[in-house]
Amino acid sequence: MDAAYCSSCKKRVTEPGAVRMACPSCTKETIIRCRDCRHLAVKYLCHGCGFEGPN
Ligand SMILES: [Zn+2]
Ligand SMILES: [Zn+2]
Repeated sequence: MDAAYCSSCKKRVTEPGAVRMACPSCTKETIIRCRDCRHLAVKYLCHGCGFEGPN
């Protein structure tokens, strides 16, 4: 995995358990979430369309 930063907390994510997924709204931006933010269901924000949410 390349250097990636969590979309929620901006921490660099390198550990297994982080996920990379397409934005569920616009599908153009990539959302990255670290294990902690997944676990805590921390909100993320898509910079492409402004979509916000844990789902
Ligand atoms: Zn995070
Ligand atoms: Zn989006």
